[in-house]
Amino acid sequence: LADKLGNAFKKLKSKGKLTESDVKEAMREVRLALLEADVNYKVAKDFTARITERAVGEDVMESLTPAQMVIKIVNEELTALMGGSEERLKMPAHPPAVIMMCGLQGAGKTTHSAKLAKMLKSRGSRPLLVAGDIYRPAAIKQLQVVGAQAGVPVFEMGTEDPVKIAQAAVRHARDYGNDYVIIDTAGRLQIDEALMNELKNIKEAVNPTDILLVVDAMTGQEAVNVAKSFDDLLDITGVILTKLDGDTRGGAALSVKAITGKPIKFAGTGEKIDDLEVFHPDRMASRILGMGDVLSLIEDAQAKIDEKSAARTAERMMQNKMDFNDLLEQFRQVKKMGPLKGILSKLPGINSSKLDEMDIDDRIMDRNAAIILSMTPEERAKPELLQASRKRRIAAGCGMKVEDVNRLCNQLKQMQKLMKQFGGKKGKKMMARMGG
Ligand code: GDP
Ligand code: MG
Repeated sequence: LADKLGNAFKKLKSKGKLTESDVKEAMREVRLALLEADVNYKVAKDFTARITERAVGEDVMESLTPAQMVIKIVNEELTALMGGSEERLKMPAHPPAVIMMCGLQGAGKTTHSAKLAKMLKSRGSRPLLVAGDIYRPAAIKQLQVVGAQAGVPVFEMGTEDPVKIAQAAVRHARDYGNDYVIIDTAGRLQIDEALMNELKNIKEAVNPTDILLVVDAMTGQEAVNVAKSFDDLLDITGVILTKLDGDTRGGAALSVKAITGKPIKFAGTGEKIDDLEVFHPDRMASRILGMGDVLSLIEDAQAKIDEKSAARTAERMMQNKMDFNDLLEQFRQVKKMGPLKGILSKLPGINSSKLDEMDIDDRIMDRNAAIILSMTPEERAKPELLQASRKRRIAAGCGMKVEDVNRLCNQLKQMQKLMKQFGGKKGKKMMARMGG
């Protein structure tokens, strides 16, 4: 998803000013990327419509860096789509807080009951785990194993009725001063009535402060459908999205809140007991958008620079054999990347106020190119040939002054000097990344 979105934005960045149709075209690509990542169709459609509206409305097109503005809006809307800010567990006036975990079989309920217990414990709480899955013989044992890893006690009553187990566990917690009761429940392969009735009964009996639905992110839109069904029947308070470490396309994370109205509270990122994170919509949005500007600049360069000629130029630069042909080639390549100020502003360590002082005029590049084009091939390859009479001829040929030709000669000399300093390992590495 990050790659696909990156591509859409790359095109925007290559343009200076944006038109409404540029934005629309980019949003069409964003929508496709979202659909491919298994985001719900309606969510994707509404999302891109909202961004288009904002981008076209908010003076974005007139701003100095319209592409960046659009990306900023996308980032904000992605964050909002996932719920805005992070959601905490509730704590009732009279502890314990009862957390009921529910979800389909294999979603990660048992694992995440223990992960959550460990997280709460590390924050100074005294959670109690409750074995409410009485149907699979190994289920209680499994909870005891992960409970031990978390260092949290496990309450079990064998194959007693889960409703009774839950009630007894809450009493036990009151007696022993546990402030959180985390009830692991049974799952089924599919949502069925018997399971739902059992969960409803537990809910009625212990009145949970939080009902957390555990869903497997790898199941994509199916995870969202499951969330909708559980929410309709149980009125869940939040979602734990598991297996985000796997090969997921990210769609579930983006659609859950929009479809169910319930926030993702935690994310599971691995099989180990510590692989649990509080879900931060803003961080997730940045993760989805990926890479900083510098990275995208390098990619810009890679995509647009004709690799062969870049390699040749780089090689010659390293050998300090730059001539006017190389300079011309550079003008051509840089032009492909868009306005110079935009390029420079993305580089680290470039001071933006300095940039404003600098007289960077893209037209100078065109004029310089014209000067080189009125040289003979021999002169382009051998800058040292340029004596006064030749310079006069060249200046006349392109309708410019001898000073202009001199300035260009100096520029070449300075570049040769710069490249001399740039030589060695560091320079080579950079050239390689630029496509050389
Ligand atoms: P339950 O049936 O809902 O209780 O699911 P379990 O907790 O037994 O988990 C099912 C499987 O998924 C186990 O093999 C877990 O190790 C694995 N699992 C759970 N959460 C994650 C996760 O966040 N990442 C990965 N990679 N595996 C997970
Ligand atoms: Mg289980």
